[in-house]
Amino acid sequence: MGHGRADEAGGEAVDDTANPDRVDCLIIGGGPAGLTAAIYIGRFRRRVVLVDADEGRLAMIPRSHNMPGYPEGVRGCDLLAQMRAQAGRYACDLRRGEVTAISRDSGGFRARTTAGPVRARTVLLATGVLNLRPPIDPDVHDAAVASGQLRYCPICDGFEQTGRRIGVLGLTAHGLAEAMFLRSYSDDVVVLALAAPDLNPDLSAQAAKAGIAIEAVPVSAFDFDGGDVGLTLDDGRSLRVETLYAALGSRTRNELGDGLGLDLSGDACFVTDEHQRCSVAGVYAAGDAVEGLDQISFAMGTGSRAAVAIHNDLRNADGQVLDD
Ligand SMILES: Cc1cc2nc3c(=O)[nH]c(=O)nc-3n(C[C@H](O)[C@H](O)[C@H](O)COP(=O)(O)OP(=O)(O)OC[C@H]3O[C@@H](n4cnc5c(N)ncnc54)[C@H](O)[C@@H]3O)c2cc1C
Repeated sequence: MGHGRADEAGGEAVDDTANPDRVDCLIIGGGPAGLTAAIYIGRFRRRVVLVDADEGRLAMIPRSHNMPGYPEGVRGCDLLAQMRAQAGRYACDLRRGEVTAISRDSGGFRARTTAGPVRARTVLLATGVLNLRPPIDPDVHDAAVASGQLRYCPICDGFEQTGRRIGVLGLTAHGLAEAMFLRSYSDDVVVLALAAPDLNPDLSAQAAKAGIAIEAVPVSAFDFDGGDVGLTLDDGRSLRVETLYAALGSRTRNELGDGLGLDLSGDACFVTDEHQRCSVAGVYAAGDAVEGLDQISFAMGTGSRAAVAIHNDLRNADGQVLDD
């Protein structure tokens, strides 16, 4: 409170009177970051519209075992359903659709969405990231993720792979770093190339010294038909691993930041202050789309922090706080 940005946050009460359809916050993205914020802002008795394309990473999790409070683990889709139900209790307007453009207007923001236009005093970007995928048919890919043959997050599920034969796809600095991380779970880790590697030999030497095998001949085919993963290499050889981590990087869903002129980090994430405020007043960001840990707990933490900042900034704009 009292940080001086709220007046620019699109919070002018006069404009809202003129536009009774304007909601307090438009949340873009309905994963754990966006839904946590929706629950909080709804409980602050504010009007929220959440638009979600329903293509998030939470829904892909077969069963998470590192979510505190769920000792038996929890399926991503179950957690999503519970959070949606909880947000619904506080009259959050949850819409399935895509936000295609946002622009500023005199009372805040105007968004074009496939679920109808929205005017809002503030905007929360909780758009997540997209994992770059190996060249596998989408249905085969999704089935392999669901069965745990194909994985994306060593922090999330490395523990369950203890002692197994692990493949890491991506003979890059990123892939080698992921393999090094997994090395503490297994002494049988092999890094595989998807294309001809272009790698600093010193990194490969470090990984080899740590007991990580490196297979530099690119993988040309994947077989998920058995319980494990079959890999065919370009030279015709084949090998099997018990589980395969794709370490091909990710792309932040930051497209909507372009129209607003938001600052991005070196990793193309939204830059925020310690209250999740972006570089343009009235815009906030949370979850995987900001720099930090790509985890559910982090998404929820930044979602709640953004929600409190939004509420306080609007209270400040409306003269509902004590002067410092
Ligand atoms: C296979 C897998 C397993 C994982 N396991 C775990 C685990 O065990 N523990 C853990 O903590 N984390 C795990 N993660 C990571 C976790 O899923 C993410 O950190 C978390 O979902 C991030 O939450 P989010 O709300 O930022 O983004 P997401 O959950 O990705 O949600 C973002 C939402 O925004 C929507 N969106 C994007 N752009 C637009 C737009 N323009 N208009 C409308 N909607 C839009 C997307 O469609 C999506 O629904 C795992 C990830 C994967 C892929």
